[in-house]
Amino acid sequence: MSAAYHPLLKSVHENIRAEVREFSENIIRPLAGRLEQAGEFSVELTRKMGDMGLLGIFIPIEYGGRGLDVLSYIIAVEEISRIDGSQAATVAAHNSLGLAPIYQYGTVEQKKEYLPMLTRGDKLWAFGLTEAGAGSDALNVETKAIQSGSTYILNGSKVFITNSSSPMASGVNLLAITGIQNDRKELSVFLVSRDLSGYSTEKIDNKLMWRAADTGKIFLRDVHIDASKLLGVRGEGHKMMLETLDSGRLSIAAMGLGLAQGAYECALAYSRDRVQFGKPIIRHQAIAFKLAEMATKIELARNTLYNTCVLKEQGRPFSTQAAISKLYCSEIAKEVADAAVQIYGAYGLVAGNEVERFYRDQRILQIGEGTSEILKLVISRNIDNKSFVL
Ligand SMILES: Cc1cc2nc3c(=O)[nH]c(=O)nc-3n(C[C@H](O)[C@H](O)[C@H](O)COP(=O)(O)OP(=O)(O)OC[C@H]3O[C@@H](n4cnc5c(N)ncnc54)[C@H](O)[C@@H]3O)c2cc1C
Repeated sequence: MSAAYHPLLKSVHENIRAEVREFSENIIRPLAGRLEQAGEFSVELTRKMGDMGLLGIFIPIEYGGRGLDVLSYIIAVEEISRIDGSQAATVAAHNSLGLAPIYQYGTVEQKKEYLPMLTRGDKLWAFGLTEAGAGSDALNVETKAIQSGSTYILNGSKVFITNSSSPMASGVNLLAITGIQNDRKELSVFLVSRDLSGYSTEKIDNKLMWRAADTGKIFLRDVHIDASKLLGVRGEGHKMMLETLDSGRLSIAAMGLGLAQGAYECALAYSRDRVQFGKPIIRHQAIAFKLAEMATKIELARNTLYNTCVLKEQGRPFSTQAAISKLYCSEIAKEVADAAVQIYGAYGLVAGNEVERFYRDQRILQIGEGTSEILKLVISRNIDNKSFVL
């Protein structure tokens, strides 16, 4: 099936869509169900995505990336998600949360050291914000980085960290407390490699969704790192992490859009084949209207997301629009996946059916990188600011 025309897309975007769609349909789709049911992260499949340049999509060519724009990246994530949320999660977390902060805040030396290594396609880098007591409330982190001369000593732990425990996981952008300033925690980000003494990980098994993506815990016990591993400015860690999440939200939105598209296509095809009461179920108006609502939501989701990508590409403020896009795309993914299961009837409830996997995979999208409740907080605060005009 060819993709729908969209007026914002240029040939570079059509090309990346065609390339990633072909890969997703021919290489990922045959493996997705089995890997997901086994809860298995595939090194081989991830390396193939790396070979295509998907583990460095918007990083400039001089640092080993593909040098593509924001919209190209989002389309790549959308296309993988149309087939499989787990593989999309691996790619999106590495690009948006692993590479982007290094590119955005790193010194030239840090970029030269980390980006070529991490865009090569055989290593993944993670984003370590969440802790047992710090989910939505990022300021509540407890992990500490105590400076001693030219070294920082890290102690603490992180939980629910994508790309942290598989054989390809090689380190993390880690948020830690570096001191107290004016009675407030001073937070900073460090580039922490997995091979350091005192660093250990543990895989989190039996997730509802993204079962073939790697989610883990990170433990730090007296991990010594050189002060040169501080990323960005000391004390600006919280701001850096929130800015990173603004962009990360675009990729979660892309996952919602792609998943909804995949579920819709499955449901449309099934409704043409499935005959009840002497005609294909799409000829029953209740089912046809359900499909019409699904198509409408996908169309609107695509428009908000692509518009936000263009804002970011143009260097304009996009934080509110990113929250709107993430909120909308993740919520419609839930509604569309639910409608797809309804259209499949009993067959949509059986493991191994693509819509059953879509139905489970969508559930993280309203939680990760800002829950729907937190996004409404962000949007409502921003629209209350008189300088914001929609
Ligand atoms: C598969 C997976 C992968 C993940 N990957 C990463 C990763 O790579 N790196 C990382 O750092 N984290 C990661 N996370 C963590 C994720 O970002 C957090 O789960 C998310 O931020 C929410 O935090 P929480 O789960 O602790 O929920 P909580 O913050 O405890 O929220 C619980 C509920 O309370 C609501 N709530 C909280 N505060 C408010 C408020 N002020 N007003 C109204 N409602 C509120 C929430 O909306 C939610 O409904 C991942 C999580 C999962 C499941």
